[in-house]
Amino acid sequence: MFAEVVVDIKSSNTDRVYTYRIPEGMNVKIGMRVSVPFNNRFIEGYVISITDKASYSVDKIKDIHRILDSYSIFDEKMIELAKWMKDYYKCYFSEALQTIMPVGIKQGEKKVKVVKINIDEIPSQLSKKAPKQYEILQYLKNRSPIRLSELVKVLNIDYGVIKSLQNKGYIEIYEEEVLRFSVKDIEKTKPLLLTEEQQRAVEEVKRSILTGTFDKYLLFGVTGSGKTEVYLQLIDEAIKIGKSAIVLVPEISLTPQTIERFVSRFGNRVAVIHSGLSPGERFDEWRKVKNGLVDVVVGVRNAVFAPFNNLGLIIIDEEHETTYKQSDLRPKYNAKEVAEKRCEIEKAVLVMASATPSLETYYKANKGEYKLIRLTKRINVSMPQIEVVNMSEELASGNTSIFSRKLFSYIKENLKRKEQTILFLNRRGYSSFVSCRDCGYVPKCPNCDISLTYHFEDKKLVCHYCGYEETMKDTCPKCGSKRIRYLGIGTERVENDIKKFFPNARVLRMDVDTTRKKGSHEKIFYDFRNGKADILIGTQMISKGFDIPNVTLVGVILADITLNLPDFRSSERTFQLLTQVAGRAGRGEKPGRVVIQTYEDDHYSIVTAKQQNYVKFYNEEIKYREIFRYPPFSHLMNIVVSGEKEEEVKNTAVSTYLTCQKLINKLQNKSYNKILGPAPAPISKINNRYRWQVILKSEDRDILTEIAEEIQKMKYSKDIRIAVDIDPLSI
Ligand code: ADP
Ligand code: ZN
Ligand code: ZN
Repeated sequence: MFAEVVVDIKSSNTDRVYTYRIPEGMNVKIGMRVSVPFNNRFIEGYVISITDKASYSVDKIKDIHRILDSYSIFDEKMIELAKWMKDYYKCYFSEALQTIMPVGIKQGEKKVKVVKINIDEIPSQLSKKAPKQYEILQYLKNRSPIRLSELVKVLNIDYGVIKSLQNKGYIEIYEEEVLRFSVKDIEKTKPLLLTEEQQRAVEEVKRSILTGTFDKYLLFGVTGSGKTEVYLQLIDEAIKIGKSAIVLVPEISLTPQTIERFVSRFGNRVAVIHSGLSPGERFDEWRKVKNGLVDVVVGVRNAVFAPFNNLGLIIIDEEHETTYKQSDLRPKYNAKEVAEKRCEIEKAVLVMASATPSLETYYKANKGEYKLIRLTKRINVSMPQIEVVNMSEELASGNTSIFSRKLFSYIKENLKRKEQTILFLNRRGYSSFVSCRDCGYVPKCPNCDISLTYHFEDKKLVCHYCGYEETMKDTCPKCGSKRIRYLGIGTERVENDIKKFFPNARVLRMDVDTTRKKGSHEKIFYDFRNGKADILIGTQMISKGFDIPNVTLVGVILADITLNLPDFRSSERTFQLLTQVAGRAGRGEKPGRVVIQTYEDDHYSIVTAKQQNYVKFYNEEIKYREIFRYPPFSHLMNIVVSGEKEEEVKNTAVSTYLTCQKLINKLQNKSYNKILGPAPAPISKINNRYRWQVILKSEDRDILTEIAEEIQKMKYSKDIRIAVDIDPLSI
C-alpha cells in the first residue's frame, strides 16, 4: 500500500503530493501526521490518500518513517476543504492543512505527573529516620493519587525526597493526560418563548437543518432583536437530530456575556475558542470536539475548522466584522468563505447574521444568493433616540471642549440619575500626534514612518504599529521651542477630561492599553455591568456584545475618525460602528439616548445612522461602489513588496506592475481589469522595512488568482518579500 503525502516545506517546487510506501504493520490512515524521508532527512508530512497503485517506479519509492500521532487529524472532508483553500487563496497545500490543524498539536497532549502511594502500612521507623518522607506518606494515605505539583506545593518539599520514596518503591509516579474544562458551571437557562418574528426565522432555518440541505441565510436583525435566542434554538434543533454546530463570533464580541449565554443553555457541551487560549488549551478544546465531548463550538475565526464529523449548522454572528479575515498570516483566508465551502461539503446550513450586513453580503441576498430573513423589532424595548451634534458649530459658539453642550448635560443627568454612560472613540492614547507650534515638527516613528501617539499616563510617545517608544520632551527637538501642542484625541484624553469635569464620577476605560493582561477585559466588563462604574470609555472593543440594561446614554466623541480613513469602505465602517454602539443604549426598561459628535453632519453615513436605516445607507453606498467598480462589482488584490532597501523595493514593485500588465494582456478576456500603482503602501515603512504596493481590480476573480500564482512563483532577491492578499478587507 502507498500513501500520498503533502510535505511540510514551503516552496513552489515542493508544493505537490509525494508517494511513500506504507511499511508492513504500520497502521497509516488518511489524515495522519507522519514522518517521511526527504532529501536525506526526516520531515513532517500529511497523508491525504491511500492507494494500492504507485504513481511512479516502485523501486524508487521510500518508506514512511513513522506515524506521529495515534489518530487522524483530518477526515476526507477536511482534506477537500484544504484543497479548496489552496486553490482559492493560492497558498501551499501544507499551509492550508496546517491552518486547519490545531495549534498546539506539536506540543502534544497536556500531561501531568501524578503520585500514587504503593504501600498500605507506613513503616513507623521512618518517622524518626526520615521525618519528611513520613510526612509525605501520611499525607498521601487518604489523598493518593494526587498531582505531584500539588503535593510539592502543599508540603513544601523538594524532588530529592520524592525521588528516594520512589526508589524505595513506596510511591509510584506516572503521567496522566488532562483535559482542561475552561467552561465553568453556571445556572442553566430555558429556551425563551419566541416572538412571532423569531419563530418564523427558526421555523424556516430548521427545515433546512432537518433535511440536511446546504442552504445559506442572511439573518438581518436590528440590534436587540433577539438574534442570539434564534441561534440557541437552532442549535438545539441540530443537537436533537444528532448534529453539531459552530458559532463564529468576532474577537471583540467574544465577551464573557456572549460565552455565558451559550454555556448557560448547553452547559459543558460547549467548547470555547478564543485567542487568549494557550496553544495547549486550544488543543484541549480541539480534542473535546474530536472525541465527541461537545456539540457546540463558540469561537473566533479559526473555530470554523472545529473537527466535527456531523456538522449541521454554522452561524456567523456580526458577519460584517473584518476580523473574520486572516490578514497577517498565509493563507489570507476569510472564515465566512471557508464556512460557506465547509457547509457545501458537509451539507450543512449557513446562517450569517448582522444588524449591519456587509455590502457584499446584502448585495448577494438581494440577488437571491442568500435567503433573507428579517428581524425588524427590538424585544420589548424601543430603539434609542439618536441626536447628531455638529462640532464646528460648537467651536464657533465658543465651546472648545471635546464634549458638546448636549452630551455634557446628558452625562451630568445620567450621573445624577445613577444610570450608566458609554463614551466611544475609535482611537486609543491621549492625542494622535504632537506637533510644534513654531516649526511644525511632528515626532514620527523611526521604524514605521507614522506619527507617534502621546500616552498621557506615562508621558511617552508610542508607535502603534511596532511599539517603539520614547519619552515626551518639553522642547521641540528641531527648533527648541517650548510651544508643543497635542492634536487629535484618543480614549486616554477623554478619560482625562471626564475626570477633570466630573471628579466624582467612577470611570473605567477599555482599549488595547488597558486590556493587555489576561482577564483584564473580563474584569472591566463585569465591574461595569455590576455598577462599579458610572462611565465606560472605550474603542470599538465596547461596540458589540454588551447588553447592560442600566446603560441609557451612549456618546460618540468623534465619528470622523473612521469616516476619514483612507479606505473605500470607510463610509460602510462608520455606519456599522455608529449603529453598533448606538445599539448599546437603552437595552433595559429605561429608554436610551445617543449623541453622535461630528464635523460632517450631512454625510450620508451619519444621516442614515441617525435614522437607523440600513437599507437607505445601502442604496446610497452601492451607487458609489458601482460607479468606481469596487466590491461587490469587482474583486481586489493587493500585492505588497517589502524589503530593507528602498530602491530595491521600488524597482521590484515596478517590475511586479509590469508583470501584472503582461499577464492581464495574455489572459485577455472581456472582463474589466485595472492595475493601480505601484505606490508606497499607506504605511510605507514598518519595522525598518519599506513597503510598496500594487493593487489589481478585476471582475473576474480567476484572473487575480492566476496572477497571484505567477507572481508568487517568481524569483526575487533574498531580502524581498511579496505578500499577496486576494479580496482584502482593508487596503
Ligand atoms: P441581538 O443579538 O439581536 O442584538 P439579543 O439576542 O442580545 O439581540 O437580545 C436582546 C435581549 O432580548 C436579550 O436580553 C435577550 O435575552 C432578550 N430576548 C431575546 N429573545 C427574547 C424572547 N423571545 N423573549 C424575551 N426576551 C428575549
Ligand atoms: Zn514603529
Ligand atoms: Zn519646533
